[in-house]
Amino acid sequence: MPASSYFSADYAEARSRFLAAAKAAGAQMSVYRNPARGPAGEDLTTDVAWLGPADAERVLVTISATHGAEGFCGSGAQVGWFESGLHREAPAGTALLQIHAINPYGFAWLRRVTEDNVDLNRNFIDHGATYPVNDGYEELHAAICPPEWTDAVIAQTRAVFEAYAEKHGPRGLQSAISGGQYSHADGIFFGGNAEAWSRQTLLAIFAKLLSRARHVAVVDYHTGLGPRGYGERICVHAPDSDSLARAGQWYDDDITSPFLGSSSSVELFGVNLTAMEEALPHARMTGIALEYGTLPTEQVKLALRADNWLHVHGKVDSPKGRAIKGQIREAFYQDADDWKQMIWDRAVETQRLALAGLAAS
Ligand SMILES: [Zn+2]
Repeated sequence: MPASSYFSADYAEARSRFLAAAKAAGAQMSVYRNPARGPAGEDLTTDVAWLGPADAERVLVTISATHGAEGFCGSGAQVGWFESGLHREAPAGTALLQIHAINPYGFAWLRRVTEDNVDLNRNFIDHGATYPVNDGYEELHAAICPPEWTDAVIAQTRAVFEAYAEKHGPRGLQSAISGGQYSHADGIFFGGNAEAWSRQTLLAIFAKLLSRARHVAVVDYHTGLGPRGYGERICVHAPDSDSLARAGQWYDDDITSPFLGSSSSVELFGVNLTAMEEALPHARMTGIALEYGTLPTEQVKLALRADNWLHVHGKVDSPKGRAIKGQIREAFYQDADDWKQMIWDRAVETQRLALAGLAAS
């Protein structure tokens, strides 16, 4: 089967493909219903497949759609893993846990965020404590999220960002915009003011299925950052931790760290992988975000701002709304065979290394 055949055109197709492939592979399924509905009024669910002994000490976990619209990529890898038969490579005693569409709302609606406009990968923070302050975002929010969305406004706001980058450097601008913020619920990269449904669901899945695990590998699939088709293994384990050292061994040092400045991602607040590791005190977790490039960063940011404008000020079901949704789809998914092949090859290489790492643990 060509790699391109594993990828779906929308959330509904991805879901049914995943359910069918998991069932054919003999996986045990569980389902978590999201409170929101899809664009056609359809149910939105996170579907969970477990394949292997119930008491497996070693588990490979894959996650798709942490950032909704990025789910095309992760779903393709998950469906492909079953359909190609690669799940049979897991050594005896090792289980596979595939979590499909942890943010089903964002996947179905072509949004990066959850039903609460929350960036799930900034939401894993203590919401009872004082939130971190992102001064750069505060300064730029009005330019990031203008009330009008026209070519003239886009040009004006670009000048604001260029001036900011002049003063703080390109990485300073990236941190300001995408590092995360907790003060503008109508803004972008908003980490939320409460635990999102998707966060609670992810941790519930971990509590239910990983209480007996001793060695856990996590591959969390993302898109939208870095060179087109390239899969960067971003590791957010602490700089001098055993976990980071272990990840380096597993992946032949082909990993990057936002803390060490080697990643295309800046340091973020409230990331999911850190919370997953904390949720597994009885296990050793080795986690990465596998981040694939799509379009140049400028275009991705523009699409995100347009989509934010659309949901705050515009109408999704309109010519402009449909055009913006097209932009979002392109920003997080490249509907091209060469891109899908690159996604698949790197996914296979990565998950095989994770299985080998687990086996050696
Ligand atoms: Zn992402």
